[in-house]
Amino acid sequence: MNGKITFTIIKPGAVEKEFIGPILNIINENGFHIVAMKLLHLTQAEAEAFYAVHKERPFYSSLVESMTSGPIVVAILEKDNAVEEYRKLIGATDPSQAEEGTIRKLYAESIEANAVHGSDSDENAIIEGNFFFSTSDKFFKS
Ligand code: ADP
Ligand code: MG
Repeated sequence: MNGKITFTIIKPGAVEKEFIGPILNIINENGFHIVAMKLLHLTQAEAEAFYAVHKERPFYSSLVESMTSGPIVVAILEKDNAVEEYRKLIGATDPSQAEEGTIRKLYAESIEANAVHGSDSDENAIIEGNFFFSTSDKFFKS
């Protein structure tokens, strides 16, 4: 895994608590370049589709509810070895297990409302980025 792109979501709880700015600041301070970004409110169908890989897990419906509870920020981030570097920066899924200084340690409320999403592979980074952004979004220069 040494691709240059990863995908992130700032989840509803973190947006509500006005953590967009602090989280983007940490992302930039750690050398990630923001390639594409927008704020939006997921529909239930969109959240179900995004997390379809987890549909058999006991927390699936609660996760979908939480992810549709308010606006989110979605962004494509660029850095060498982006997926691995960003997983390190966000910390463990469960914030009580996350290392000091990680985004989840600083800003997560719980294992479910854990402040941010980060892709787990180069392949999923592309799939997840394409879920939210079209080619024209990434290159609107004119
Ligand atoms: P990660 O986001 O660290 O890759 P997973 O892919 O395993 O973690 O899970 C996706 C999301 O589902 C997590 O970020 C979190 O919001 C939620 N989640 C994971 N495990 C639990 C759990 N045991 N209880 C409630 N929500 C969970
Ligand atoms: Mg995951």
